[in-house]
Amino acid sequence: YNEHPTLFKLLAISTIGVSGGGIVYAEVNTPSGANAVEPTKKKKVVVLGTGWAGMSFLKSLNNPSYEVEVVSPRNYFAFTPLLPSVTCGTVEGRSIVEPIRNIINKKKFDARYWEAECYKIDQVNKKVYCRTAADLNGKSEFSVDYDYLVIAMGARVNTFNTPGVEENCHFLKEVEEAQDIRRNLIDSFEKASLPSLSDEDRKRMLHFVVVGGGPTGVEFAAQLHDFVNEDLAKLYPAVKDHIKITLLEATDHILNMFDKRITAFAEEKFNREGIDVKLGSMVTKVTDKDISTKERGSGEISSIPYGMCLWSTGIGPRPVIKEFMQQIGQGNRRALATDEWLRVEGCDNIYALGDCATINQRKVMEDISVIFSKADKDKSGTLTVKEFEEVIADICERYPQVELYLKNKQMLSIVDLVKEAKGNPAKEETIEVNIEEFKLALSQVDSQMKNLPATAQVANQQGAYLAKCFNRMEECEKNPEGPLRFRGEGRHRFRPFRYRHLGQFAPLGGEETAAQLPWDFVSIGHSSQWLWYSVYASKQVSWRTRALVVSDWFRRFIFGRDTSRI
Ligand code: FAD
Repeated sequence: YNEHPTLFKLLAISTIGVSGGGIVYAEVNTPSGANAVEPTKKKKVVVLGTGWAGMSFLKSLNNPSYEVEVVSPRNYFAFTPLLPSVTCGTVEGRSIVEPIRNIINKKKFDARYWEAECYKIDQVNKKVYCRTAADLNGKSEFSVDYDYLVIAMGARVNTFNTPGVEENCHFLKEVEEAQDIRRNLIDSFEKASLPSLSDEDRKRMLHFVVVGGGPTGVEFAAQLHDFVNEDLAKLYPAVKDHIKITLLEATDHILNMFDKRITAFAEEKFNREGIDVKLGSMVTKVTDKDISTKERGSGEISSIPYGMCLWSTGIGPRPVIKEFMQQIGQGNRRALATDEWLRVEGCDNIYALGDCATINQRKVMEDISVIFSKADKDKSGTLTVKEFEEVIADICERYPQVELYLKNKQMLSIVDLVKEAKGNPAKEETIEVNIEEFKLALSQVDSQMKNLPATAQVANQQGAYLAKCFNRMEECEKNPEGPLRFRGEGRHRFRPFRYRHLGQFAPLGGEETAAQLPWDFVSIGHSSQWLWYSVYASKQVSWRTRALVVSDWFRRFIFGRDTSRI
């Protein structure tokens, strides 16, 4: 432009003239036979949410034949796995966020962003109703039409309607919440150091309680323990003996979704380090000073004085999703049910992904039955061990939640049991396994079977999968029999979504992490911590956040964490 402004303007005018600023012109034959240019309106895709699922969808969508509108109350993407690190100042809040406009401005298609929340989805008129938090003198509400709707609104914290939780506990889902926790932690130490307080007050103030022994609760407890020991204890020596961290978990173990070796290691490590892990302890009520608990086994009721409490017990649907589920007859579900192509059941052109959605288990069970029947070629109702192992491997590859379920029930060892019962014969192929029994066992527990985990990994893969489908949609519609058509089952033109589990981490503090990798490979210790650093650095969505996060880690190594309450 600087060198040839006139040429630039001419080019710009001719480009706008051709593209029509958002309208694609197609050459068509008019009845008279002359060629004319008729505008083909772009299909409008509305994306609700800028979290893992929404961001991944937007990043992978590259077909310019769409017009995209993004609605989210958050104008940035947040790298949630590092939220626990933000609570203690190991990394800064701003280092883990990427403005959504940075992402959409790089796209080749027309993309717009509205900072607002969707409060109603009208599937009949293909509209979403939105409102912004800003006071715009009665103009804060608007509606957006769509051709395709992508719901990626995540979920909210589930309090199980426990009285007092909303009012008195901290949650850890948003960057602001992590920053709030950080401020509150320092505040507790400053207040507890004041001369007017009794030791009893100090003890209560410096009692940090974490409710929920899942990955988030455990990582927060570990981060807090490091923060206290590495930084705060030195700065607040007068109160350091009053500090206590308690972790309350309603089931028998923390990190239930991890391998038993990891669970055992974590429990032992926490006990050794003085983190009080109370298993089988259900919180029944929270006031501003005490947490009431009920022991699962004995029914004993206790009251725990506390200073700060983090509530991290799982997720539930957002109100707008709940209302939408009622509208479409899914009112009794905990998340929007989709098919394996991520289409919301019973709706046209509406897709749901990430934490707000779940793939309908009925379909999973149907598929499992098909796999069994195919393997049972002679229809005898039995399989050889070899065939059986293949079937299990196939099912587990398609549905990691089944693998998890089978593992919990120790069903994968069925093969070993059969071998043992038959005197460990040398020729495994001669052993037969009764699949009917196995199918029955699976179907009986269908409702208990765990869905895909609500993780960034799933949301990220679903976003990328759906974008790929959208990228090819037009081509597939034009060439229904083309090579991209999914011929196998003949049900849909795309392959169904398949989740690839790449492993999971549980940082346990003290520069030690537990890693559960594919093929049941478990690694715990300092080397896994380095793996954790490299994976999380590489998974950042931009070079900017990558540089910021890595420099925060270095800063912490050299200077320790910042303890100013700002
Ligand atoms: P989110 O990422 O929550 O995004 C939801 C989006 O919807 C947000 O942009 C939000 O602003 C927007 N939204 C909300 N309401 C509305 C509305 N009414 N209208 C429009 N938009 C709306 N997973 C892992 O795999 N590994 C980890 O290590 C890990 N660690 C975690 C640590 C913490 C502390 C937390 C909280 C979660 C962690 N997770 C981890 C889980 C992971 O963050 C979630 O599974 C993932 O964020 C789900 O992605 P999503 O896009 O469905 O939802």
